[in-house]
Amino acid sequence: MDLPGYDFANILLAGPCNLRCPYCIGRQLDPALNCNVLDRFPLPNLERFAGLLRRHGVRQIVLTGSNTDPQLYRHEARLLDWLRRHVPGARISLHTNGQLALRNMDVLNRYDRVSLSLPAFDAGTYEKMTGSRRVPDLAAIVRAARVPLKISCLVNEHNAPCLGEFLERCHVLGLRRLVLRRLYGETRRWELPAGLRLVGHYRQNPVYDYRGMEVTYWDFGRSSSTSLNLFSDGTISGEYLLVGRGVSDSARPALRPGGEGGATMPGSRLGCSRGGSAGGMPAGLVKL
Ligand code: SF4
Repeated sequence: MDLPGYDFANILLAGPCNLRCPYCIGRQLDPALNCNVLDRFPLPNLERFAGLLRRHGVRQIVLTGSNTDPQLYRHEARLLDWLRRHVPGARISLHTNGQLALRNMDVLNRYDRVSLSLPAFDAGTYEKMTGSRRVPDLAAIVRAARVPLKISCLVNEHNAPCLGEFLERCHVLGLRRLVLRRLYGETRRWELPAGLRLVGHYRQNPVYDYRGMEVTYWDFGRSSSTSLNLFSDGTISGEYLLVGRGVSDSARPALRPGGEGGATMPGSRLGCSRGGSAGGMPAGLVKL
């Protein structure tokens, strides 16, 4: 039997975050999808999700958050161990804002790779884009990290003028990969810094070389990745939220017991209030 393929899987944790990014998608999602699970293990429907990953042959798992940073999850190391046992052979990535990276470096180094969101080195610019002046010490993180580290840099009007300086600083720190990300639905064009040499494309997004550092200019509107997603309330969805599809239950095909086909299944609600309407992600929102 042919099963639909997925490029990767997301585990989307939820709970209070240590940043307040103005463009965070978490603020716009159906509240049921943002059920606080930072103290909870196992996550709702985790076992079933792992079964789907094995069944569909998904080999890339991203630990991220819908409205929180995954390093705030009290059971981060335990979840990592659990995934290693239950989805053998999967490569597991952490997507973090880096606020707790140095404090949790032992756990961070147990992932296969890490994507760290950093929009600026300058505290003033960082504050405009995250609500905080606590810029992670990237130099110290790079020194302590034993796994490949990629920088994810959301671009908007606050940091676009300083991108050249940003790239150079990342290069000097020894980083090998960096992604410049446009806000979903962004119509403005940003001028890319000098010194970028086009070397190819990845999922229709241009990839450049900057002095030995790979720089991808990522636009969700152009991308065509497919993911299987576990939301914090236990909802499992094959819908990739960031392309703006609805996430209301009525719009979802139910997952048959045993789980085959396009997998979308409302999970236990954990007492979260329902309300609001997701209706996909409004233009201009992004998960750092
Ligand atoms: S975008 Fe990420 S780091 Fe920023 S507030 Fe939302 S969850 Fe936290």
